[in-house]
Amino acid sequence: MKKLLSIAVIGVFALTGCSSTTPSSSAGNGAAGKGGLIGIAMPTKSSARWVSDGDNLVKQLTALGYTTDLEFAEDKIPTQVSQIENMITKGAKVLIIAAIDGTTLTDTLQKAADAKIKVLAYDRLINKSPNVDYYTTFDNNKVGVLQAGTIVDCLGLKTNKGPFNIELFAGSPDDNNSHFFFNGAMSVLQPYIDSKTLVIQSGQTKFPDEVGTLRWDGAVAQARMDNILSSKYTDKRVDAVLAPYDGISRGIIASLKAVGYYSTAKPAPCVSGQDAELPSVKSILAGEQTSTIFKDTRKLATQAAKMTDEMLKGTTVDTNDTKTYDNGIKVVPSFLLDMVAVTKANVQSALIDTGYYTAADIK
Ligand code: BGC
Repeated sequence: MKKLLSIAVIGVFALTGCSSTTPSSSAGNGAAGKGGLIGIAMPTKSSARWVSDGDNLVKQLTALGYTTDLEFAEDKIPTQVSQIENMITKGAKVLIIAAIDGTTLTDTLQKAADAKIKVLAYDRLINKSPNVDYYTTFDNNKVGVLQAGTIVDCLGLKTNKGPFNIELFAGSPDDNNSHFFFNGAMSVLQPYIDSKTLVIQSGQTKFPDEVGTLRWDGAVAQARMDNILSSKYTDKRVDAVLAPYDGISRGIIASLKAVGYYSTAKPAPCVSGQDAELPSVKSILAGEQTSTIFKDTRKLATQAAKMTDEMLKGTTVDTNDTKTYDNGIKVVPSFLLDMVAVTKANVQSALIDTGYYTAADIK
């Protein structure tokens, strides 16, 4: 019996092509409730933020009377495509999509449009498709500005002319946000690079070819940092690393630790991050990672649910930016949220007082 059951379970996974469907959220399965079925396609469970995004979306949409089908694609493009196509087949009314690669959904979204399904790009813009109705995200340029700002503060660049050695890391080349984060950060760092206050010993500055990190993979960043340290820093010290995301920051910190940093002889360099992931918040409190960017995914999910409801009710959809996000075919009307930079100094007010984490979580 047990064997039969496990075969059945494997069969279900094979059919749906999904590696992880949250049982409470797969209530959809074609049987839409009062408000109808909403498909939610998230990129991966390997980063905590997307798990929270998914959970919060289900919570908000359920409260508004919708049923949901939440899928995670473990960063595999064909998996995400087939998950979205399944949602179309199941009769979803709206697709909320955080794309893995923002350029690979053109055909799939045409099928959605043919079936009169609306599409909301979630956090990451979907490029090269006319069939993206709305977009909600954070002010991604500002994320980069804040990341670089924490490095400027950490090095004391307003008064200390250095020179300091810095290395640059950016996000996944296929994620539209990576460009915004990197450009925002460089708008702050470039003047210091031009004045030689900041020196990039590796000479690697080009996005995406030199500094991009495919799929935001911390191990990829760690390997690149290993190479840079062994080839350029045997007799020099790296003072700062621009890192776009906490998983990448932790990879870089592991690489630095392996060659003796975080010791009296080689104190902690300044390392930025993003997403306020728990291991990184702990690292900040331990004096390792310098900063992260807290983007309140609860607010993003609430906004996405609101826009979904407005689209389906035919009322005015709440947007606050109709200029910035051109997907190559059209400017997608967007709602941008704000965020805060977090260092050791404001973990309590930004993350605990707001209820994002409990005091016990960060112990
Ligand atoms: C998100 C970031 C996240 C990154 C990696 C980006 O699209 O905006 O919050 O750190 O993906 O998951």
